[in-house]
Amino acid sequence: MPAEAPGPERRAVFDSCGRLVKSLRVSVTDRCNLRCTYCLPSGSTGFRQREELLGFDEIVRVVRCAAELGIDRVRITGGEPLVRHGVPGLIARLKRETRVAEVALTTNGVLLGRHVDALVEAGLDRLTVSADSLRPERYHSITGLDLMDDVWAGIRRAAKAGLRPLKINVLVLKGVNDDEIDTWAELTRQHDLVVRFLELMPIGEGAAGELAGRYVNLTDVRRRLEAELSIEPVPGPGGNGPARYWRLPDGAGVLGFITPLSEHYCDTCSRFRLTATGELRPCLAHELSVPLTEAIAARDDLQIKAGFLQAAALKPAGHGWNEGQVTKIRMSNIGG
Ligand code: SAM
Repeated sequence: MPAEAPGPERRAVFDSCGRLVKSLRVSVTDRCNLRCTYCLPSGSTGFRQREELLGFDEIVRVVRCAAELGIDRVRITGGEPLVRHGVPGLIARLKRETRVAEVALTTNGVLLGRHVDALVEAGLDRLTVSADSLRPERYHSITGLDLMDDVWAGIRRAAKAGLRPLKINVLVLKGVNDDEIDTWAELTRQHDLVVRFLELMPIGEGAAGELAGRYVNLTDVRRRLEAELSIEPVPGPGGNGPARYWRLPDGAGVLGFITPLSEHYCDTCSRFRLTATGELRPCLAHELSVPLTEAIAARDDLQIKAGFLQAAALKPAGHGWNEGQVTKIRMSNIGG
């Protein structure tokens, strides 16, 4: 069973491997306005009905309970969170009505431009935008839509509004966009951006098939960039996430590497995920979940907290992806 220790203001919970339970990713929808080939390919079906999703009151309740157990960082995600109406209002409520220290958002950026002001007003602390290519046609062929300019307009508006650090996640796929790595690195020479390269994880319907051949080992890429561009390790912009950071010697920005397979970080993983329908998932890789739906419907905070303790007890020591395990559930269903 996880150990609980009283803290000065709130309890701290440790999972069964002794890792502090610290952060929660909250999915607000399993739907997305893009159809990325590796995540939610065109023709995907089986989305949840609107009435199955947790309401914002319910999400605030769960986060309030989580905060009382020591979770102090929340990230709103999906699917694409900004396709759900009212997300800035939810963020404002999480900031106002719970004791979490930080509320972040991960978005594909397509709708970012029109929501930036409301997000800043709501008190959003951190923003991550996913954008896998700097080339419009390629962006179109990866995501199914020709919207790269909208994404960059949103990123520029976010920068202007002072949302810093500005993180851009780039999922690197062999033969698709791995020839853009150096261009992204050069971008951080000029601009105060945090460009983070992600390794493809074997998650979703295509994981065991065509996608398997698209994996790029980013530890090898990082070593090449150390040799060729003299990138140097730096502490990173905070947020205590899974990325490790490097910088070009004269870089205005930094490069992050998220390497769940080649240099996994399971021993420091403090993340839990709340799906859009109220399941608590202690690990992205494993199909384990604790349903909170009944406790939420009953407004039973003790039961909700008991769900977190149960999830902490279930959290595995690590994933089995390097041993050939595949996670069949879609990333958009778990909350990426
Ligand atoms: N729609 C938002 C976005 O685009 O950032 C949030 C959800 S999306 C699922 C979150 C992140 O998961 C994106 O950066 C996406 O590239 C990444 N992702 C999706 N499938 C993945 C996979 N199989 N392996 C690694 N990252 C993946």
